[in-house]
Amino acid sequence: DNISAGDFEKLSVLGHGNGGTVYKVRHKLTSIIYALKINHYDSDPTTRRRALTEVNILRRATDCTNVVKYHGSFEKPTGDVCILMEYMDSGSLETALKTTGTFSESKLSTVARDILNGLTYLHARNIAHRDIKPSNILVNIKNEVKIADFGVSKFMGRTLEACNSYVGTCAYMSPERFDPEVYGGNYNGFSADIWSLGLTLFELYVGYFPFLQSGQRPDWASLMCAICFSDPPSLPETASSEFRNFVECCLKKESGERWSAAQLLTHPFLCKDMES
Ligand code: ADP
Ligand code: MG
Repeated sequence: DNISAGDFEKLSVLGHGNGGTVYKVRHKLTSIIYALKINHYDSDPTTRRRALTEVNILRRATDCTNVVKYHGSFEKPTGDVCILMEYMDSGSLETALKTTGTFSESKLSTVARDILNGLTYLHARNIAHRDIKPSNILVNIKNEVKIADFGVSKFMGRTLEACNSYVGTCAYMSPERFDPEVYGGNYNGFSADIWSLGLTLFELYVGYFPFLQSGQRPDWASLMCAICFSDPPSLPETASSEFRNFVECCLKKESGERWSAAQLLTHPFLCKDMES
């Protein structure tokens, strides 16, 4: 991948995040549209480390249909690390929720299957995503759903990882991330992804973050208390028993009881033949 910043023309901003900005760009020579994530150089070495981890993981996952496709990377003279990816023209599930409203069960069943395909692939290669949430799941015009944003992902070692490192978006963190002694029976980072998936599907169905009542302002301390001390949220009665059970399997407080990504792929919620 012999590419540099001069090969691309910036068209628009697709998103801002922690350490950078994602642009819609056009490759001047071929006119192909891509997304370019520019991680701005700063003196804090963690920004750069995260960008390089993301490159490392994306380039190992190019044959997974449910991970956003990597097309190369380069470093600008300024030290900015730039990652070239396929452009996902329908944006993230967070924007979809804001613009078109809550998702139907049948839509969520295909979304869940696609995310689980991606997670099964990653977990089998010892990669924990660690930041699964609506804004990190992208969709394209072909209705393909892909996992993106590997900035805080991690290759999990054979030994148990210390899990008191605060990464990811706190709200979607699982109980064992806060209190490993109580909920971390066999903490491995993979089951934390499943917890976040459960919360993500829940939010897309009801339209608000599960631990907060609709419209309530997020208050970090009470949110953490709710995650650790209250029962896991359960879906409203309007949801089918298959869907309710699926979310229960994701939101077991004890990490060891949560289903794995591969197990969840066999859950009746995904296999059920649903009309519309
Ligand atoms: P951050 O680490 O800043 O959260 P992300 O990789 O999650 O970076 O990108 C931020 C936002 O930019 C996403 O939520 C999404 O809206 C948009 N985005 C990122 N990558 C793409 C892409 N390949 N195609 C379209 N939009 C994207
Ligand atoms: Mg993100």
